[in-house]
Amino acid sequence: MSTIYDRDEAETIRRRNAIQPHQMKLFRNALFKHSESWSGALAVLPEPARSDFMNHLQFECIALAERHDSSIDGASKLIFRTDDGNLIESVVLRPKTGRTSICISSQVGCACYCSFCATGKMGFTRNLTQAEILDQVMQANRMVKPEGRSIRNVVFMGMGEPLLNVEHVFAAVDFLKSAEYFNMSGAHITVSTVGIPHAMEQLVETFPDVQLALSLHSARQDVRERLMPQSRRYTLEHLRETLKKVSAGRKVMIEYLMLAGVTDREEDLQALMDYLKGIPVHINLIPFNEYPGNNLHGTATSDRAHFCDRLKAAGFNTTMRYSLGSDVAAACGQLVQHKRKEVMA
Ligand code: SAH
Repeated sequence: MSTIYDRDEAETIRRRNAIQPHQMKLFRNALFKHSESWSGALAVLPEPARSDFMNHLQFECIALAERHDSSIDGASKLIFRTDDGNLIESVVLRPKTGRTSICISSQVGCACYCSFCATGKMGFTRNLTQAEILDQVMQANRMVKPEGRSIRNVVFMGMGEPLLNVEHVFAAVDFLKSAEYFNMSGAHITVSTVGIPHAMEQLVETFPDVQLALSLHSARQDVRERLMPQSRRYTLEHLRETLKKVSAGRKVMIEYLMLAGVTDREEDLQALMDYLKGIPVHINLIPFNEYPGNNLHGTATSDRAHFCDRLKAAGFNTTMRYSLGSDVAAACGQLVQHKRKEVMA
């Protein structure tokens, strides 16, 4: 069945029912801009168009299965079930200073197998469709509406590698940016990647204003290969050429995970500085979210602060990130991973 994100099908139904374009605009605004419930949005249309839309378009293609609200920092972890029974997750972040954001998934599981990432342990099931990606934003918007909030930032940092699902991720970004639909600024959309060079170039060509984040995590080829198997295929050297190209006209965000004794030593710092020299970037130092079954450990806060100061002193824009939602396991893939275990036990 077509979904509410199917523009052609919506247009066919509009014509069939002789609905005026301005009425369609009211309907779209109610649904996508004002986050009305689908029945509320449909109410702006006359019958029989209302029933026709309801009978021929699917309004929700993922169902909220669980909601976990952090008691410490206003993060909400949402677990959705897809029509074919897969679980995906999104995290709504309500930072004290700053705008409401959502971290969304682009795939069920992931094929990148990064050693520090819980999603990587699940293996890869399938790509999410455009509708499944957008529905995470739509449903979160409805959830935060009673709080007087709306989602202002969308980051593709949930489950999956967005640049290995280019077709559906690009279609979703197009929808988020479209003035007729979500009307979001590209500056408020971030696509985060392990580093798929051709797709990074394609992203900045297609959406010059969308933010790009590269999960670098190490500037040493041997270390990065151990952490991120994809870097055997796309080496640091190759990625640096890509970084130079995609950073013309924008500042790329560099995600750098601080792992004790693995990515936080003096030689790691030196390699990082050498690697990024001359490239306009913003470095985010990420604390490691530990989870069972993994023997990696995060760098102590004071050591992270020192690493941060050194980068700043060398002229790099650097921010120390704090983990949100740690009590609801909001790090990549964690909660679904817990659930899988419960089911298996
Ligand atoms: N595949 C994409 C987006 C999903 S992961 C990417 O790799 O960028 C989003 C971010 O969370 C990435 O920077 C990833 O490296 C990081 N991440 C994964 N597991 C983590 C963990 N246990 N603790 C902290 N960050 C983690």
